[in-house]
Amino acid sequence: MWIGAEQYQFFEAILFKTFGHEIEIKDIRFISGGSINTAARVSTLEGTFFVKFNHSEHEDMFEKEAKGLMLLQDTNALCIPEVVGFGEYNDKSYLVLEFIENGGQRPDFWQEFGRSLSVLHSHTHSSFGLSFDNYIGSLEQRNQYYENGIDFFVEKRLRPMVGLALYNGLITQNLRDCFEQFYPLLPHLLPNEKPSLLHGDLWSGNFLSNPYGYVCLVDPAPYYGLREAEIAFTHLFGGFDDEFYEAYNEAYRLTPNFQSRIQIYNLYPLLVHVNLFGKSYLPPIERLLRRFVGS
Ligand code: ADP
Repeated sequence: MWIGAEQYQFFEAILFKTFGHEIEIKDIRFISGGSINTAARVSTLEGTFFVKFNHSEHEDMFEKEAKGLMLLQDTNALCIPEVVGFGEYNDKSYLVLEFIENGGQRPDFWQEFGRSLSVLHSHTHSSFGLSFDNYIGSLEQRNQYYENGIDFFVEKRLRPMVGLALYNGLITQNLRDCFEQFYPLLPHLLPNEKPSLLHGDLWSGNFLSNPYGYVCLVDPAPYYGLREAEIAFTHLFGGFDDEFYEAYNEAYRLTPNFQSRIQIYNLYPLLVHVNLFGKSYLPPIERLLRRFVGS
């Protein structure tokens, strides 16, 4: 992407706001791969930063992302980029992070990823949810606390996404009714484990390998939830390397027959995709509901 004087001025201004003094920029490179924001690698005389910005209607989106990153980083379970700053400038919201240089994957990358994710998941809380709401993609994700993980999954994950899809004319009343018939079955289908701290949006676009060759997680939508939901999420678009699952399971064993529950948990990210990208994500949802409640 061509970088004009105006863009330089934008990055200079946000770095000034972040550090409180002028910082000389050496180079700016735009990064592709983000789903909703514009991102750039900004190298300066004082270090290299990852900067992303948008014209979002949700002005607290980056504040919530920063809080989520700091929450995960506080566990020391695995690499999370340092939050350098966030704010607003010229009608744009921005987030400045430590830039994670890609060091390639070490041979034990996937094992270490599985093991360290199990450490993250071992961080627990007295309730399911989180003390603040956040976003998944550009959709609001509400996190009010619940005592029971399955109730939380229904009330704070499935029902709101189903409601939004119905409101936006993306699903029929009939499909909504199928969901309503399905919810009471969930306590018989899912193990009600203790709350685990989750990244919350763990697909292949949201992790990098750091300069040491190990995983670094970005763009989280965290909450204390059912850890199986996170492992299921990794299967949504083809799955991670087998070594990842083996190492996770060795460190923190999943309840037997996890495979049979993957599609149930993935109703949530699929509904998120329906709401963000449209009806083409509906067929797997309809197929799953038909298995349990007919139509
Ligand atoms: P979006 O919010 O638009 O989805 P992401 O946070 O996923 O954007 O970032 C877009 C891309 O930038 C990611 O796919 C990742 O490859 C890269 N990225 C994200 N954070 C960093 C970082 N701190 N350092 C280096 N690259 C990053």
